[in-house]
Amino acid sequence: MLGQDVTYNVQLNDNELLDLTKKENRVLLTKDLELYRRAAATCLDAFFVEGKSESERLAEVAGRYGLTLVVEMEKSNCPVCNTKLKATPKEQLFGELQKNTFAYHDTFWKCPNCGQIYWQGAHWKQITNTLSEAQMKLKKSKERIEA
Ligand SMILES: [Zn+2]
Repeated sequence: MLGQDVTYNVQLNDNELLDLTKKENRVLLTKDLELYRRAAATCLDAFFVEGKSESERLAEVAGRYGLTLVVEMEKSNCPVCNTKLKATPKEQLFGELQKNTFAYHDTFWKCPNCGQIYWQGAHWKQITNTLSEAQMKLKKSKERIEA
């Protein structure tokens, strides 16, 4: 959602993750210290994520890679398949959404690849809260480094 090109696959084993990281020239984010050490030993770009909450983890990764913790839907990738989302006029989605969703929301994005539809619904408050917390944690950690 933050516009980063991300692959996420819980089916892959450690060797497959390392191969994919190398083949696709990705950064490996992991909470598995052993996997992190193996990646670092082979000079892959890897980051050991330690945060206990979503906002801590976001702040750590944003701090390390200079990410902006703001969702701009026009820059977001589909969380399901990693394709850039496309703003889609409400009228084009008639029949694809539940009545209430269609009635109460006006702005939608659709994934041109997998067809998933997104809007800033009830879960949006939670997302923006988590991002705000992460921004505060990131700011505090920068202040600690500068002090
Ligand atoms: Zn998609």
